[in-house]
Amino acid sequence: MPERRRSIDTRLIHAGEIRPGIEGAVALPIFQSANFESVEGEAYHDIKYMRLSNSPNHMVLGRKLAALEGAEAAVVATSGMAAITTIFHSLLSAGDHVIFQDCLYGGTYDYARREFRRHDLSCDFVDGEDPDAWVEALRPETRMVYVEAITNPLVQVADLEAVVAFARKHELISVIDNTFASPVNFRPPEIGFDLSLHSGTKYLNGHSDIVCGAVIGQADLVARVKKMMNYLGGSLDAHACFLLHRGLKTLALRVRQQNESALALARALEAHPAVTRVNYPGLASNSGHERATRLFDGFGGMMSFELAGGAEAAKRFEAAVTIPIVAPSLGGVETLLTLPSATSHAGLTPEERREVGVADGLIRVSVGIEGTEDLIADFEAALATL
Ligand code: PLP
Repeated sequence: MPERRRSIDTRLIHAGEIRPGIEGAVALPIFQSANFESVEGEAYHDIKYMRLSNSPNHMVLGRKLAALEGAEAAVVATSGMAAITTIFHSLLSAGDHVIFQDCLYGGTYDYARREFRRHDLSCDFVDGEDPDAWVEALRPETRMVYVEAITNPLVQVADLEAVVAFARKHELISVIDNTFASPVNFRPPEIGFDLSLHSGTKYLNGHSDIVCGAVIGQADLVARVKKMMNYLGGSLDAHACFLLHRGLKTLALRVRQQNESALALARALEAHPAVTRVNYPGLASNSGHERATRLFDGFGGMMSFELAGGAEAAKRFEAAVTIPIVAPSLGGVETLLTLPSATSHAGLTPEERREVGVADGLIRVSVGIEGTEDLIADFEAALATL
């Protein structure tokens, strides 16, 4: 059966691998070598050097990640932010304009708001659920439209098919941060996105022990990103490649458990009197629910919620839970809680946070792979103390 017709479970294990394994090794060894011996007749572009992201560890990851999303090519990077900023600096030129979805990961938002102008780039932020707003933001110099599959931390699902249609109509590069959905739940190239990117630190690796990123998509665009990464030096270390590769093997098992637990937990929270709002695309109350149901294979492990007692109650809740760890980041095997106003969105001013809808008392949950019933019982016990 051709690889592209195989399930994602099979592709996670076998796609892109070197077979037969080197010296019979079932797992790909770590190529801890900065440089590689030259071979007769080698062209300049064939030189193997760690910064050029072309060791066997890098090449296998690139092939596997591309296969997971049904894309032509992929490259890994030192972090999600390295992936994001390298996309901007490889595909945009001075004078260009980008249309961003308004509620994004704080690092992306901050970078666009504060650093773009130093490179003579400009941008506008639009409501991802309101295609008319994108047309208004369009300028002759607009080159790119940038969204997140599920936004951080409000877990909104933009009108993603309309984003692709809009980009095609106006000849813009369409870029999507697919970190929160993961390739198990959503594969952006399948609906026509030019580039998808990940903070591989999160679900792809899944064990909260490395920082890494990935850019996946059309071969010509990935090649331009990779070339810029060669200049900027954002190549992922070989040992981190190995850990990412190992983490990927269990991605489907982890994400499906997280999908299931998060849905059950979101439903329990929504039914609780101390909770005023639950943001989760799997709930019928969520504005993106219909789109998420149609486009995604699961609603993911991320949610956020607000308590009747606001920021004070949120702090008491964080202190009362016993299973979740209060920590930034997400997508690992352990359940994490964080207040985005103090972590991922702390770089925004209070007014900017209000504008994008991040309340000071908003609690973000990254659901891990612990027992679902244990998690619900722990959350309910903590709510009972408020
Ligand atoms: N994109 C999203 C959606 C994120 O949540 C994050 C980090 O939290 C990033 C990108 C940045 O990734 P990294 O921390 O790996 O640089």
